[in-house]
Amino acid sequence: MSGRIIDGKAIAASLRADVAAAVKALPSQPALVVVLVGDDPASQVYVTSKGKATREAGMRSVEIRLPADTSEADLIARVDALSRDPEVDGILVQLPLPKHIHEANVLAAIDPLKDVDGLTEASAGKLVLGKPGLRPCTPVGSVILAKTERPDLAGANVVVIGRSILVGKPAALLFLEQNASVTIAHSKTRDLRMVCRGADVLVAAVGRPEMVRGDWIRPGAIVIDVGTNRVPAPEKGEGKTKLVGDVHFAEAIQVAAAVTPSPGGVGPMTIACLLRNTVLAACARRGWTVPDALAQS
Ligand code: NAP
Repeated sequence: MSGRIIDGKAIAASLRADVAAAVKALPSQPALVVVLVGDDPASQVYVTSKGKATREAGMRSVEIRLPADTSEADLIARVDALSRDPEVDGILVQLPLPKHIHEANVLAAIDPLKDVDGLTEASAGKLVLGKPGLRPCTPVGSVILAKTERPDLAGANVVVIGRSILVGKPAALLFLEQNASVTIAHSKTRDLRMVCRGADVLVAAVGRPEMVRGDWIRPGAIVIDVGTNRVPAPEKGEGKTKLVGDVHFAEAIQVAAAVTPSPGGVGPMTIACLLRNTVLAACARRGWTVPDALAQS
């Protein structure tokens, strides 16, 4: 028996349409600024697609591209100026930053009201405390995808593999907020396969290509594959590569009720949730009511 493919592209397109409708109902256009330091090819692609999606949603997009040798002090000064600029609604500093820059110091310069990536200490604190705030985009997207298959997650056993600040930890907290019973697994977890087999919802955020095999998955489970790994693809030609997830998709789809593909699952949701956060940030900071199109999503 074969499970369903959770179509992240289609679900993200629907959320983006909601964002665009919400933007039309606002008194003015929100503005999102994305800051990129250096020339990491993957980051360049992400920043370009975020800019395009922002404009398509009817918002203003500003891309600031800085050289790889930008000093930490200069970067902090730029981010600080954006935090003070009343015309800027959202600030995203594309990670990873070059090695000589401490990411935490830069994130600390982002006004929490403009923290559309949800990565500042203030946003993380609000998440832990269960207070309203801007939530990290990839984990929110993962929860939305899981809820398309199981709208009520109360009591579900959720296993999150990975405990990064960016994905694993916030994802675990967001599933907890949904009243799921959450286990966080990581590189020191014993008998990971058996831990995963206990999951009604298995979230893989590891960064290891196709690590989660079919026999790690409980029959009928929902599998959310956050992983995006570039691997050699000799079948496409010499030197060619392709993207694969942390889950062995072909095996997983035989066992699970539903699986997100990677690419085409969580990735598109991350961008859609970033756009949503930009509208929510603009509304909170400017005292606007969140338009109906987004109030429920
Ligand atoms: P990360 O910071 O490298 O964290 C990886 C986590 O996986 C760590 O907690 C690590 O455990 C755990 N881990 C590593 N090897 C393991 C193993 N063999 N068994 C069990 N746990 C293991 O990565 P990340 O930033 O969270 O990203 C995870 C994946 O998601 C990557 O593939 C990344 O590209 C992808 N991602 C996708 C999106 C998107 O929009 N689709 C966004 C962000 C990230 P320890 O803590 O014990 O070391």
